[in-house]
Amino acid sequence: MDLTHFRFETDSDGIALATWDSPGRSMNVITPEVMAELDRIVDTVAADAAIKGCVITSGKDSFSGGADLTMLQGLGAEYARLARERGEEEAMRFFFEESRRLTLLYRKLETCGKPFAAAVHGTCLGGAFELALACHHRILSDDDKTRVGLPEIKVGLFPGAGGTQRVARLMQTGDALQMLFKGEQIRPLMARNMGLAHAVAKRDEIVDQAKAWIKGGGSAVAPWDQPKFKAPSGKVYSPAGMMTWPPANAIYRRETHDNYPAAKAILQSVYEGLQLPMDLALKVESRYFARILRSPEAAAMIRSLFVSMGELNKGARRPAAIGPSSLKRVGVVGAGFMGAGIAYVTALAGMEVVLVDQSVEAAEKGKAYSHKLVSDQIMKGRAKTADRDALLARITPTGDYAALAGCDLVIEAVFEDPKVKAEVIAKVEAAIGPEVIFASNTSTLPITGLAKASQRPDQFIGIHFFSPVEKMLLVEIIMGKATGERALAAALDYVRAIKKTPIVVNDARGFFANRCVGAYILEGHLMLAEGVPAVMIENAGRQAGMPVGPLSLNDEVGVDLALKILKATKAQLGDAAVNPVQERILAGLVEGEGRLGRKNRKGFYDYPEAGPKRLWPGLADLAGPRLDPEAVDFAELKQRLLVAQAVEAARVYGEGVVTDPREADVGSILGFGFAPFTGGVLSYIDGMGARRFVELCRRLEAKHGARFAPPDSLIALAETGGRFYGRAEKQAA
Ligand code: NAD
Repeated sequence: MDLTHFRFETDSDGIALATWDSPGRSMNVITPEVMAELDRIVDTVAADAAIKGCVITSGKDSFSGGADLTMLQGLGAEYARLARERGEEEAMRFFFEESRRLTLLYRKLETCGKPFAAAVHGTCLGGAFELALACHHRILSDDDKTRVGLPEIKVGLFPGAGGTQRVARLMQTGDALQMLFKGEQIRPLMARNMGLAHAVAKRDEIVDQAKAWIKGGGSAVAPWDQPKFKAPSGKVYSPAGMMTWPPANAIYRRETHDNYPAAKAILQSVYEGLQLPMDLALKVESRYFARILRSPEAAAMIRSLFVSMGELNKGARRPAAIGPSSLKRVGVVGAGFMGAGIAYVTALAGMEVVLVDQSVEAAEKGKAYSHKLVSDQIMKGRAKTADRDALLARITPTGDYAALAGCDLVIEAVFEDPKVKAEVIAKVEAAIGPEVIFASNTSTLPITGLAKASQRPDQFIGIHFFSPVEKMLLVEIIMGKATGERALAAALDYVRAIKKTPIVVNDARGFFANRCVGAYILEGHLMLAEGVPAVMIENAGRQAGMPVGPLSLNDEVGVDLALKILKATKAQLGDAAVNPVQERILAGLVEGEGRLGRKNRKGFYDYPEAGPKRLWPGLADLAGPRLDPEAVDFAELKQRLLVAQAVEAARVYGEGVVTDPREADVGSILGFGFAPFTGGVLSYIDGMGARRFVELCRRLEAKHGARFAPPDSLIALAETGGRFYGRAEKQAA
């Protein structure tokens, strides 16, 4: 056979081996060409009497990441074209047939009459794992790198190539739904225990064992095609089914607030599919898949969380002319809350860390945080003792700045005080080489101002982490007025090395993320002052798609910190720069009641030693008269909480602090969890159209105040009928 993406050979036992190894790619991806070749392989195996069965494996270090999402994006564009030219019905027919090609191919493989086995090593996700599920037998390598799973839900899709149907026939319905909802990557032994794989073997034995299974008479009939097949949870309409489905519906609502059509489609596909024979069940799944693929949520999530995030991770903003940075040894000055986290992620990425604080004892305390984090990983079975020893050996705690000699990059995370920072900058620069880049993790001080204390302002940059550093995936890189391209390249290389996503922003108060977060929290405070019951505010935040309500979020970052920032802003910019209502609430909590947030177990919530947090009953008195909950427009609360952030993002963009819509969108989802189904803050505006968004802002402005006033740049965009993404594409062209 003349194949490009597979090597195909048959051994003396008549067992074929199809080794997937697409040329010029580091990872196998399902494309139309791959599908066409797999189709020919199935035909050949089925037709050739000398071939007993076939093993599918990969020639690369991983199996495959699944379908090419840009191919699916292309289908959407083709649909729109056909709908324009030949009408909706024809476009829909085309779309349905095209979007189920993979389903039909896998079903053909499953029913071709010859046994297929998948021998999987490395990552095997999405459409690739659906291929493995369609094979009659699955063997996974016991390697640390091997992971299987169906993560489609994370980009607003669901497994539409048979995944929902096969998984629901392999395990209890509740477990299947959980797996499909979470989209987690599953380790080999766990996968076998869940019933997703038949066996786990050493990497170099998986192919032989798969062949042995075929040689031993492995069946070419999938369990669900056997006449007496019964799904593990039995029938949908049964006492057991009635124990599963009503709670499943409730869990779906609790987890998604009905914001994610793909999650609902999973429920529907499994519920309806389990009542049908496989071919019909697959057709039901395909119908839902075609609908979800065309949903605005999937389009927005694929663009931001797959395409844009991938581009940013690969260095979309990196100055191309500058060669790769050598980052072997990194200095971290300040071993407090943030510095300790920065030291951990840096050492985890394999770099040496010199961790400096005012004394070696303080630095050692910072290092102890790494010990705690790896120990937690060991407890969870995700790391070995040897990993801990190696990681800790890479961190050198010290009180001596001279130890920074030989560092390739230094990041400071000392107290948020310009005087302390200036002293630290001078001491660090005296210790490091003339070429070394210096970064500050300041969250509020302008980089341009801090750089005045530096002898080399072009090598001075902001690398702004979010807390907790080890969990948060976003890093803001702040360009001061004098920051040079070499500093930018080094900062981006560093962020890439620690496997986080960077956005590059210009220097301005609050940078990008904190300005939007501030707008969200402010809106919560003002609602409270209006008399909206606190519980409604919190629920509105979560139902709008935010991970936590605004009051809860304020407790996490510290109520005292919010008051401190507000006071600093007032001192610098005058009384008009802050909202007096917010100041009254924050001062009342912090100064009047000593309520600082989660840190002292007293904030907007009470945090009892045992049991869950509870809203503080005293909030009602602090805020003023309470509105009748029945009279509150709940839909408007949700809208205000998102619009407040989006209009602030539009302002930040209009001011040129963020210059690329991709960065605003990705940054908003990764940095503060902005309703992911919207695709991010600017996609949210694009989704409804700038014109409608401006009208909405004006309505909210008239009712609730000037903070909703749309910026001129947004009004101009609305007047021309433009879009954030339209504009970016034009710029790029
Ligand atoms: P922290 O008080 O926990 O830690 C500061 C550390 O710096 C302390 O260990 C202190 O001993 C050390 N230090 C002070 N002066 C020093 C000196 N001259 N030399 C060496 N070490 C010195 O503070 P933090 O919360 O980790 O914040 C540190 C920086 O990170 C600040 O600029 C802050 O704005 C920024 N930041 C904080 C957060 C957050 O959520 N806490 C988020 C992003 C950025």
